[in-house]
Amino acid sequence: MSNIYCIIDNCHYWGEGNKCHASEIIIVSDSYASETPDNIDAPLHQSIQPVNAADCMDTCCKTFVPRGTNKINVDGVTRN
Ligand code: SF4
Repeated sequence: MSNIYCIIDNCHYWGEGNKCHASEIIIVSDSYASETPDNIDAPLHQSIQPVNAADCMDTCCKTFVPRGTNKINVDGVTRN
């Protein structure tokens, strides 16, 4: 993915220069992320109902996966 910058360096998709190397990502509200399983992610974007956020602190990257865990293949996203 191009032009997605992120400073979360323990994410499986993070790379040098603070670049995200995920094939796709999805940003959701904090509450949506906490209420849905890890397999609900960017590949399912067309079936996810849009929601409102109060401010930037109410949003998060649902595609985040801690590097080195066995969760990297759960969401259908690949690392470019
Ligand atoms: S998937 Fe999300 S948390 Fe991970 S590097 Fe990309 S933007 Fe950052």
